[in-house]
Amino acid sequence: MSKLNILIAGGGLGGLCLAQGLKKAGIDCEVYEKDPAVLQAGYRLHMNGDGGNALQACLPDHLYELYRQTSRTNPRRELAVMIDSQGVEKAVRPHIGPPNDEVLPHTAVNRRTLRQILLSGIEDRVHFGVEALRFEQDRQGVRLYLSDGSLAEGDLLVGADGINSAVRRGLMPEVEPADTGMRMVYAKSPLTPEIAASLPQVLFDGFIGATDATGTFAGIGAFVPRRPIREAAAELAPGSVIDPVEPYMMIALSRGFGPLPLSDSELRGASGERLHEMMLSLTEGWAPALRGLFERIEVPSIFPQSVRVLKPLGPWKASRVTLLGDAIHAMPPTFGAGANLALKDGAELAARLVRVEAGELPLLEAAAGYEEAMRRYAYPILEMSVNPSFKTDFSQGPGGRAV
Ligand SMILES: Cc1cc2nc3c(=O)[nH]c(=O)nc-3n(C[C@H](O)[C@H](O)[C@H](O)COP(=O)(O)OP(=O)(O)OC[C@H]3O[C@@H](n4cnc5c(N)ncnc54)[C@H](O)[C@@H]3O)c2cc1C
Repeated sequence: MSKLNILIAGGGLGGLCLAQGLKKAGIDCEVYEKDPAVLQAGYRLHMNGDGGNALQACLPDHLYELYRQTSRTNPRRELAVMIDSQGVEKAVRPHIGPPNDEVLPHTAVNRRTLRQILLSGIEDRVHFGVEALRFEQDRQGVRLYLSDGSLAEGDLLVGADGINSAVRRGLMPEVEPADTGMRMVYAKSPLTPEIAASLPQVLFDGFIGATDATGTFAGIGAFVPRRPIREAAAELAPGSVIDPVEPYMMIALSRGFGPLPLSDSELRGASGERLHEMMLSLTEGWAPALRGLFERIEVPSIFPQSVRVLKPLGPWKASRVTLLGDAIHAMPPTFGAGANLALKDGAELAARLVRVEAGELPLLEAAAGYEEAMRRYAYPILEMSVNPSFKTDFSQGPGGRAV
């Protein structure tokens, strides 16, 4: 048994990364996740050095290697590329984040696969189907009330419970996420070898943003793992539950920070077929190669998403309760940074808790140090990601090359 006992509300990317980092250092922790299992929530996640370095710090070597082998193959160019609806390249910009490895860069992952990797080896510490309800804290410790009627006691509670965080509600009741106005429809389109061979190379760059004159915007990202996921998992993490994934193109359609043609209640109530129709009507007249991606969309994969954001907060007094990831810096997916930052938070906090366990740092100083660092690296990205003029950050690309 370690000296410290850490309670983590939320078994998403950030919470599981922290739990892995603690396990690696021999520190006790328990994770409470309200969902009954690792559900299918989203598809492809762009990865950068922030997230990748955090995984390297927190995961045991074999799981970090599994993350690298199940990541997307190296793209032709690890850049975000803007094209118009006819596929003409308009501009490019590098991804944000620390310098990336040149040989095996952090590229992109299938979200569910990464969560399954993060769960490997800590299954006994993750309590699925248990919701964190509220907490109490005093000088001795923190108590977390759970939906199964039980009470967990620990030294520190970490709210890693996403944008609607119950822990944040208890800690900062005045803080509420704000609506950005952005509505997205998220889907997958198949990517068999035949389809891949028929597509223009630009669609295999790091990430593609296609826009037309009406303001429709499609984020497009290929996911083809470096190695078949089943094969890599069988070799590197035998016994872990890691599902196979076929290659796909992820599509996220929006009208920037403006509304879609369907109202919120229509979006919520719409069938997959109706959402597909809307996607097709918004991209009518787009180049055949792009249009084909939309026509082949797997209808059951379509789901709508409204994008909310938290405002950066001034410094607060550190306590036995802290927050990480979307619970404290939820942001629009403008730079594909939210998950990377949630992983970085997990690693930053774990590194400080290791020093607490070793008797080198008092617990409250560790929480304060983590929170200060997090505000410094996450808030500037949050602020940039809600700026609708971010597209002006794209440098002028070669231009004039049609798909
Ligand atoms: C369309 C879209 C595309 C995106 N693409 C990217 C990308 O390419 N790259 C990137 O870096 N980021 C991306 N993001 C952002 C990224 O998804 C989030 O920033 C990231 O998931 C945050 O991780 P988290 O662990 O903080 O929270 P979550 O992933 O939201 O995990 C929180 C967990 O807590 C659980 N939970 C909630 N309440 C409770 C409770 N009371 N008790 C117990 N458990 C609870 C939830 O079930 C969930 O499992 C994207 C977001 C969207 C919407």
